[in-house]
Amino acid sequence: MKRTSTDENFLQCLTLHSGNDSISKLIYTSSNSSFSAVLKFDIRNTRFSTPSTPKPQVIVTPLLISHVQATLNCSLKHGLQVRVRSGGHDYEGLSYVSPVPFVLLDLINLRTISVDIENSFAWVQSGATVGEVYYWIANKSRTLGFPAGLCRTMGVGGHFSGGGYGTMMRKYGLAADNVLDAHLIDVKGRFLDRKSMGEDLFWAIRGGGGGSFGVIVAWKIQLVPVPSNVTVFTVKRNLEQNATKILHRWQYVADKFDTDLFIRVVLTGVNSSQEGNRTVQASFNSLYLGGKDKLLPLMQESFPELGLVSEDCTEMSWIQSMVYFAGFSSEQSPDILLTRGPSILYFKGKSDYVKNPIPEIGLEGIWQRFYEKEAASAMLILTPYGGRMSEISESSIPFPHRAGNIYKIQHLVSWSEQENAAPEKYVNWIRRLYDYMAPYVSQSPREAYLNYRDLDIGTNNEGNTNYSQASIWGTKYFKNNFKRLVDVKTLSLKVDLIITSKAPR
Ligand SMILES: Cc1cc2nc3c(=O)[nH]c(=O)nc-3n(C[C@H](O)[C@H](O)[C@H](O)COP(=O)(O)OP(=O)(O)OC[C@H]3O[C@@H](n4cnc5c(N)ncnc54)[C@H](O)[C@@H]3O)c2cc1C
Repeated sequence: MKRTSTDENFLQCLTLHSGNDSISKLIYTSSNSSFSAVLKFDIRNTRFSTPSTPKPQVIVTPLLISHVQATLNCSLKHGLQVRVRSGGHDYEGLSYVSPVPFVLLDLINLRTISVDIENSFAWVQSGATVGEVYYWIANKSRTLGFPAGLCRTMGVGGHFSGGGYGTMMRKYGLAADNVLDAHLIDVKGRFLDRKSMGEDLFWAIRGGGGGSFGVIVAWKIQLVPVPSNVTVFTVKRNLEQNATKILHRWQYVADKFDTDLFIRVVLTGVNSSQEGNRTVQASFNSLYLGGKDKLLPLMQESFPELGLVSEDCTEMSWIQSMVYFAGFSSEQSPDILLTRGPSILYFKGKSDYVKNPIPEIGLEGIWQRFYEKEAASAMLILTPYGGRMSEISESSIPFPHRAGNIYKIQHLVSWSEQENAAPEKYVNWIRRLYDYMAPYVSQSPREAYLNYRDLDIGTNNEGNTNYSQASIWGTKYFKNNFKRLVDVKTLSLKVDLIITSKAPR
């Protein structure tokens, strides 16, 4: 990629305004040999990492808040768009791809975590991963945790600003429900905390998508109590083992269990015991905040159809359960939560909310789609709601999917590197599945989870999108909160606040 005079001016501006000439070591242009490695390090959907994917003009990896401020100020001055990346898990690659010339502000070096056990809170910088957050909390206490997502490498910045759910959501709500304060650099480069940004902006960044309002550099989070031993299990049933009936029943109990119990279901296509045939497997994957002596009678009473037995259950510390839900063996050391790095996964995802149980005949229609060859690596993840999720009001934060939802579905399809030359057949498969699901899921609007971003439901037209166009997808992600989000955004651009607070270094 050729360096333009805009890039040169931007780089000069950065050096001039960062107040510290060490910023030069934190800047990568295409002439730098590490440019590609730095870009790819935090790309989670390799579908957006091909030679033809648009690349940033410049990557800046700030070490200090003043570097973030200088990057925003200089980008504004020289007409470059900014994309902010914390962990790079965006489903549509929006944190590191843009159709117009852009600067990638990669927060990977802003990852300090300080835990205050006595007062049960922590300050975490946005470039930290959720795995690191869990690790450092558990390093200080076996009986405190935090209710965020399962995948250890997700960045705090994107995850918290879009909601952030995990295995403790039925007991404590989302990550964003447990944010107490935040540090934001607004589009003009000003440092704001909860008090100086005001309650409207503080409301907006907890679930409204951070990137619209500036760069959130740190979050103060409320830690939550966890028992010193929890129990996990994964029970697999395929269609020959009555999976349809068990799953059908799960829909009637999953959102009503005691809030200490979370049972999600992962549906995949697998080989059947009859040679040459395929079947569908339902994996019932659970965290119980307590010991198995209490879990077993609870399951016997409320969900005997699963046939859970003592041998299925393993007791462990909460941090070990986070290792388990991150996809590792329960013996794996929690040190694994501190690792991150590039992965190869080409995928397309979508989401849906289910308010009434899907009848067995509807489930059987899903199974038919799993038998199609494009679905070889497809997956549906059913996450139960209810409990605390139903108690929090729809307008408490921008994330609106609360009472009335039994569960959320995440639809996923993936393919190999070779197949990425023509991924349309996989993308079309998931779109057909999504069409099929329409009668069984939420309607008017057909709700979607912001953190499972899906550009099929609508996309901004680089500054030329009006309110009614944006409402089409805005109401799916935010329901009635969309209007308030637009108002907050409009106001934050209009009002020229005089901010005197100084950024910490
Ligand atoms: C493998 C995998 C597993 C997942 N599991 C879960 C799960 O268990 N629970 C769940 O709720 N979600 C899950 N997700 C979705 C995840 O929550 C979102 O993709 C989330 O946005 C990731 O945050 P990030 O910082 O890694 O992403 P990024 O790609 O870095 O950012 C996502 C969006 O947020 C913006 N952004 C990032 N950082 C900031 C910041 N500091 N300030 C302002 N804007 C910012 C970006 O510009 C972009 O628009 C999963 C995703 C993947 C790929």
